Amino acid sequence: MSLPRTIAIIGAGFSGAATAVNLLRMGGAQPLRVVLINRSGAMARGLAYGTSSRDHVLNVPAGNMSALADDPDDFLRYCRWADPATTPSSFVPRRLYGSYLEALLDAAEHAAPESVTLERWAGEVSAIELAPAGQSAAVRLEDGRELQADRVVLAFGHFAPGKPAIRQPAFYADRHYVGDPWSAAALQRIDPTEPVLLFGSGLTAVDGVLSLARQRHAGPIWLMSRRGLLPKAHREQRAVLPPQEAQRLFEAMGSTARSQLRALRRAVLEHEARGHDWRDVVAALRPFTPRLWARLPTRERQRFVRRLQSFWDVLRHRCAPEVHARFMALIESGQVRLLAGRLRDCTVTEGGVELAWAPRGSAVEQTLRVGAVINCSGPDTDLGRAANPLIRQLLERGVMDADELRIGVKVDADGALIARDGAASPVLRYVGPLLRARDWEATAVPELRMHARAMAERLLEELAEAAQAPP
Ligand SMILES: Cc1cc2nc3c(=O)[nH]c(=O)nc-3n(C[C@H](O)[C@H](O)[C@H](O)COP(=O)(O)OP(=O)(O)OC[C@H]3O[C@@H](n4cnc5c(N)ncnc54)[C@H](O)[C@@H]3O)c2cc1C
Repeated sequence: MSLPRTIAIIGAGFSGAATAVNLLRMGGAQPLRVVLINRSGAMARGLAYGTSSRDHVLNVPAGNMSALADDPDDFLRYCRWADPATTPSSFVPRRLYGSYLEALLDAAEHAAPESVTLERWAGEVSAIELAPAGQSAAVRLEDGRELQADRVVLAFGHFAPGKPAIRQPAFYADRHYVGDPWSAAALQRIDPTEPVLLFGSGLTAVDGVLSLARQRHAGPIWLMSRRGLLPKAHREQRAVLPPQEAQRLFEAMGSTARSQLRALRRAVLEHEARGHDWRDVVAALRPFTPRLWARLPTRERQRFVRRLQSFWDVLRHRCAPEVHARFMALIESGQVRLLAGRLRDCTVTEGGVELAWAPRGSAVEQTLRVGAVINCSGPDTDLGRAANPLIRQLLERGVMDADELRIGVKVDADGALIARDGAASPVLRYVGPLLRARDWEATAVPELRMHARAMAERLLEELAEAAQAPP
């Protein structure tokens, strides 16, 4: 029997855990050791599903949240086991999804053939050294442990939200600033009678507002974003665009940001004129998105990101109807108020924080006093700004590279990292939301589950080929 091959997976959020599950389910042709390493010991939760708040609800219906690309009803069955009334259109708490992922990983481990093992390591990976021959790597942890691996899957997930450029960036070290909007402990330190600024007005801000409401925050809650757009709701019942219509739309979209916008607008108007809902058109584009993105030259991608992304995000990333209704009720009550503009400065005063901000379209600054600023701008995607020591090391070595738009990581069609010199790595892989650079649509489970499965299939094929090769 040959020695087991080792696949190290760095990060045990959805992407890392789903890759491990697929390796455990599909492996067995040869001995395989899967080592899943996560900064905290909480495996299979990650940023999205590690929340303990029942107010944080999935923004994708249960029927579309299976972690298994080959078993679309897996999550629905899990939900029904807990609550038989769950339907494919139900929106359930994210913490339930975390429990599901944990259970799925346990089940895959127990059902795996003896030759396939899973190890769970709690610890922070701080460096990866590629072997000179280029066919393996040493994975180094902050606590001094080291692991030799034949392949390394980077599934390090999301970074902290980017900080807006202000005149006194030292403010970001002050106690009035909350950099992690999902930290219950940080939110609980906020005085409930004080006004609060949430920087951002998207889905992260909705999480923030509902967390503050749950802890009976009584002061005003200001949301600030450049355009002042608010998230939209999913419908209770979904409908679909006929496939030939979706195909026609894809073909009509062209290869500039403007032509794609025009075609989308026309399709929505026609669809609505027939009495249907615009959401059907947006949903129908989802499987085509990587190809539409691939069609855009870099200049057009830049144009899309600069001018259209915030509008697209509002249409595409929607929240559960019940969450949306609670959020809108808080807006209607006047407690949650929206500001469209740019934050220019934050000055700590005796009474809290004085904000200087410029309303959209105006250069004249206004001031606002709040007790705390919570960054709800959503995860940063710029590798260059990441504080993660591993990312810094990989960038310095030139084995990992950011894309031109700074929205993700450069990878080839198999998820192999493309180094600064343009070569695809035989050892290092990436799976997770930063696939956005290649595919645009890559942050949610329906896409990530396909990437996790494809990653596992490809790795197993490669290890099988290596085992066949003469020594
Ligand atoms: C708040 C939120 C809500 C979402 N809700 C939904 C939803 O309802 N439906 C949906 O389909 N999608 C949702 N998504 C999107 C999607 O599910 C997530 O993007 C997905 O979970 C990403 O998982 P990940 O494993 O790539 O990243 P993460 O969840 O960020 O996990 C990465 C893990 O890697 C660890 N790590 C990082 N660096 C190191 C290191 N150097 N050493 C060791 N460990 C490390 C981290 O500690 C973390 O546990 C949501 C995303 C967010 C942020």
